[in-house]
Amino acid sequence: MCRHLAYLGAPRYLADLVLTPKHGLLRQSYQPRDMRGGATINADGFGVGWYPLSGLRAGRLPVRYRSSRPLWADESFAQIASATEACGVLAAIRSATEGMALVHTACAPFTEGRWLFSHNGVVTGWPRSVAALAATLPITDLITLDAPTDSALLWALARHQLRADVDPARALVQLVTAVADAAPGSRLNLLLTDGATVYATAWGHALVSRSSPDGLVVASESHDDQPDWIPVPNGYLLFGTAAQGAMIRPIEGFDRLRPRTLATSRKETP
Ligand code: GLN
Repeated sequence: MCRHLAYLGAPRYLADLVLTPKHGLLRQSYQPRDMRGGATINADGFGVGWYPLSGLRAGRLPVRYRSSRPLWADESFAQIASATEACGVLAAIRSATEGMALVHTACAPFTEGRWLFSHNGVVTGWPRSVAALAATLPITDLITLDAPTDSALLWALARHQLRADVDPARALVQLVTAVADAAPGSRLNLLLTDGATVYATAWGHALVSRSSPDGLVVASESHDDQPDWIPVPNGYLLFGTAAQGAMIRPIEGFDRLRPRTLATSRKETP
């Protein structure tokens, strides 16, 4: 199981969001609290995308750093993170699904224009189960996937909708239900932001949110023991902004398509 987080709000140092919280992504990379029965660490790379303060004038385009190393082993990122403030962040640590490429381009966030995207989970029966869905994409999208992984294909499918100006919440819901239909039992926690609004699905893995006057955090796991982390129920879509906080609504079709119970082996708990 990978782990991801998004933040929107007042300027924060990347280190304060990703590295220093007691149970933040750094700690989760080697000792996640939610081990799902002793499953795995998240050592197959990481990525962080952020909206730099200086980028506000440049159309809010994010900057992205990805690596195939574990987060704990990247000193260069630690230096950048302690010197970089951002008003929006999407970060992810990866535990590769068995058989999928171990390359930095397989690490979230995936990005185009102002968008940052992450997937925590697995598409069952990959790649055959979603071949028909993949065939709906332009061939140039298929031959330029970031990596030969389920997550990279999910991003290409989401991006195709975003390019067509489909409402982002609608695009994520359609994607989750189409993939769950084609690949039953898939786990599809998605996270998407344009730096102003964050969208997330809870579909097979844990998800929590925390709103404060400073901003909104949406994450796979709470970063500390404070009681203001609110769990997002399985089968729900979350959308929110720094000013409004998080709102949730159920995803239609969840009862029919719900992912199977979380398993315990490394193979089955991406
Ligand atoms: N299946 C995806 C990958 O291999 C995501 C893995 C995960 O959520 N652990 O990159």
